[in-house]
Amino acid sequence: MAELTPSQLLELVHGTQVAAGTPRVRELTRRIVTDLFRTIEDCNVKPDEFWAVVQWLTRLGASGQVALVTAGLGFDRLLDIREDEADRAAGRSDGTPRAVEGPLYVAGAPLSKGEARLDDGSFEGAVLVMEGRVLDTGGEPVAGAIVDLWHANEHGLYSHFDPDQKPYNLRRRIETDAQGRYRFRSFLPPGYAVPPNSPTSELFDALGRHGNRPAHIHFMITGRGMRTLTTQVNIPGDTFLDDDFAFATRDGLIVELEQGASAEGYKSLDVRAPFTRVRFDFVLQKAANEREAAAGSRYAGTTATAD
Ligand code: FE
Repeated sequence: MAELTPSQLLELVHGTQVAAGTPRVRELTRRIVTDLFRTIEDCNVKPDEFWAVVQWLTRLGASGQVALVTAGLGFDRLLDIREDEADRAAGRSDGTPRAVEGPLYVAGAPLSKGEARLDDGSFEGAVLVMEGRVLDTGGEPVAGAIVDLWHANEHGLYSHFDPDQKPYNLRRRIETDAQGRYRFRSFLPPGYAVPPNSPTSELFDALGRHGNRPAHIHFMITGRGMRTLTTQVNIPGDTFLDDDFAFATRDGLIVELEQGASAEGYKSLDVRAPFTRVRFDFVLQKAANEREAAAGSRYAGTTATAD
């Protein structure tokens, strides 16, 4: 083969087998490889730096933390910002704001009607009851909506990914009643950080960035004919509320804590002393099509699924 300049090599990389393959994959690969060629040239990337990155990517993939890095580099929020922009252009900006799903959703949590207790009582944190309604944008209740929620334990870890927790610990699905109501008991979750001494922390240490997320609770809410809402609410007062590793904090999603609420009326959740209450209504848009109303995580529309 002839001697090549970088640009000639790039054309060969892109130009082979152009009649085959997937046009969209070819388009995006061309753009990304072109940008990386340019980065290597502009930044004078040496072989040892390049192969160090390849090794890091290999370890990152093996660690299952790729989706932590995407969040920390802003990609998850970027996709939400773009969805918001598309909604605004389409005149669909009403309802509860979306927020990033994160990499730790697990489908199939236990389902109950109206209310649920998430924790098993083994951790005696501040008792939290969060309650409210699922409404449409006209203020009408959405009966039979499914409020699928998940949060970290007292150590900042999620069941399924943390082998020390029981299956579906701190994960539940609650079906709203005729008035669109839901409520659940748990404890106030703490914030958490990316795993120390991991491929993810290596990158963010090198970038001089912390890996902390403020305390939050995740939700995925579906209702018949409604657009699925994936969001999270933040607990106020957290140090990292406005300095979130994943850039996920949004106005309208920071709840208010009502301290010392009366236990009266909460016996079915085994609440017997004053507790911390959060009231929050979720407002769903009408679905424009079946795809918008489908339940499922962000991986549902992909051909490859994460385990
Ligand atoms: Fe989370």
